[in-house]
Amino acid sequence: MPTISSNKPYRVGRSRTGLGLFATKPIKKGTKIIRYFGPLLDSKKKDEDAIENKYLFELTNRWTIDGSIRENVARYINHACRPNAESDVRPRKRKVFIRAIKDIEPGDEISYDYGTDYFKAYLKPIGCKCDACEKKRKKKRAEARAERVRLKERAERKAQRKAEKLAEERARQRKAKKAAKANGKLANGTALNGKHLNGHSLINTAGRKAASSKRGTARALQA
Ligand SMILES: [Zn+2]
Repeated sequence: MPTISSNKPYRVGRSRTGLGLFATKPIKKGTKIIRYFGPLLDSKKKDEDAIENKYLFELTNRWTIDGSIRENVARYINHACRPNAESDVRPRKRKVFIRAIKDIEPGDEISYDYGTDYFKAYLKPIGCKCDACEKKRKKKRAEARAERVRLKERAERKAQRKAEKLAEERARQRKAKKAAKANGKLANGTALNGKHLNGHSLINTAGRKAASSKRGTARALQA
């Protein structure tokens, strides 16, 4: 394990997805952090080609590193869509190093992009939990929440307008009904009076109910 010394700038720690590798010292951009290593698998050998795990690192068409061994501390490094490190692959030497592509501060989780194939096979189905994707999800959730609030407020305003309109309509109907009732009474009164009452009371009734109506009085007089 050539890159792991006593003053290594990282440690294994708890991360969002389980375990991860965290910087314990500042790591300058461009620095080799750790080697990703393990037995080399030869795809030409049937039994080696059949090996399947999450820690396989394909070097070439023929050679793959099986990084699932415990000693390979680099296997703790999680994937990130916007990582602070990268895998530096040396196919001819059959070696892989993880190298900082940003200045990394103590406490930062070290990450690199696992690549499209891994992402599609392992991360897309469960949803990538990296910082960038979490932030995106958070933003989307916040937007969805804001949209729900907006829709609710709009519905409430609409309901309020509807209620107001209905109240206005009812008030109008009540007014109209009252007016119609008043007219109806007058008309009924006239008819009844015409039939059953003598002339004098007829004039009085009509005169009282429609005091300003000359026509009413005239009609009443005619009747
Ligand atoms: Zn991601």
